[in-house]
Amino acid sequence: MVKRDIRSMTLEELQAQFKSWEQPAYRVSQLLDWIYVRRVTAWDAMTNLPKALRQLLAETYAFYSLELVRKQGSRDTTQKFLWRLNDQSLIESVLIPANPALYGEASDRHTLCVSTQVGCAYGCKFCASGLEGWKRNLRVDEVVDQVLATERWATASGEKSTAADGRTVNNLVIMGMGEPLANYDNLINSLRILNAPWGGKIGARKITISTSGLAPQIRKLADDPLQFRLAISLHGATDEVRNKIMPVNKKYPLRELTAACEYYQDKKGRMITLEYILIAGVNDALDQIKPLAQLAHKLHAKVNLIPYNKVEDLPWERPDEPSQEAFLSALENEDVIATLRREKGHDIDAACGQLRLKTERELASA
Ligand code: SAH
Ligand code: SF4
Repeated sequence: MVKRDIRSMTLEELQAQFKSWEQPAYRVSQLLDWIYVRRVTAWDAMTNLPKALRQLLAETYAFYSLELVRKQGSRDTTQKFLWRLNDQSLIESVLIPANPALYGEASDRHTLCVSTQVGCAYGCKFCASGLEGWKRNLRVDEVVDQVLATERWATASGEKSTAADGRTVNNLVIMGMGEPLANYDNLINSLRILNAPWGGKIGARKITISTSGLAPQIRKLADDPLQFRLAISLHGATDEVRNKIMPVNKKYPLRELTAACEYYQDKKGRMITLEYILIAGVNDALDQIKPLAQLAHKLHAKVNLIPYNKVEDLPWERPDEPSQEAFLSALENEDVIATLRREKGHDIDAACGQLRLKTERELASA
């Protein structure tokens, strides 16, 4: 039988296990403190647990940790991590400071962008993550450890957190490699652990799940009691444009996607975000404005415009700045709440999947 990883266990499961071992309840708290507060990576580091218990834990659970293969830091202190999993697969996380320490001051709030799959099966034409297909889903512990491993790196590298709780990661965006809602159960179980007061302690409202538009899973998420935020990778306001760049739209066309988003909105009463990458000559024409505004009004959604990040080997380009601004003003003229993102980390291949792609190609040609 394959051992479950200790970082995929909930408090209740651990309590039941410790009870069956006739271990006192406080041992569970000690264990969780080692994992989620001190973030150790070896059983032997858990020095206040009796040796016999550590042995029992080691026999029962796996304890894999992500291995840092490569890190890129950009001028605005966005950090990109390439991790190796225990089967040698590579995944990425990106740490984005809320207050870029441009002038040398410490920034205490950080957002971590995490991956949920190795590769992606959805094959959006503009995206590096889908270029080499889908390999596998991430396990619960592999999602959880992206946060812990980033914090281990922050501690080891002396990156000071001025946050009162000493944490580095305060916000999560599930916008790394992979389609999170295609790995639904592992995603939700990992987010429960990252949200739990005994685990990652990240508020549900500080966790944003981004999807390319899996309508049935959006409805399922709406029925989940936790108040995660939802972002839809729209990238086109008509089926014609979306069909050209996102194959998922053939399966769940805009009508179906919109209905699922309305259901989510009704259930949660929360504002959805529509992500819209601006790609020159593909979706940046002003004929998208009216349908986009209609959709945003219908869903009470705000629109995040993101200039496209160039991907090696792909022909797509971002529009020039005046065109980006023109698209934004046209939306605002329709009374849409919209922002134009000045992509942080543009200079370090921050868009999902790019560092992995580059590294795998380098390895292949070596
Ligand atoms: N699969 C999910 C989450 C991961 S992708 C989704 O598609 O929503 C996270 C975001 O990055 C998506 O909005 C995706 O469209 C966007 N993205 C992918 N490649 C990009 C690129 N080259 N430049 C800018 N954004 C990109
Ligand atoms: Fe997959 Fe999202 Fe990239 Fe599309 S944009 S290929 S769904 S990771």
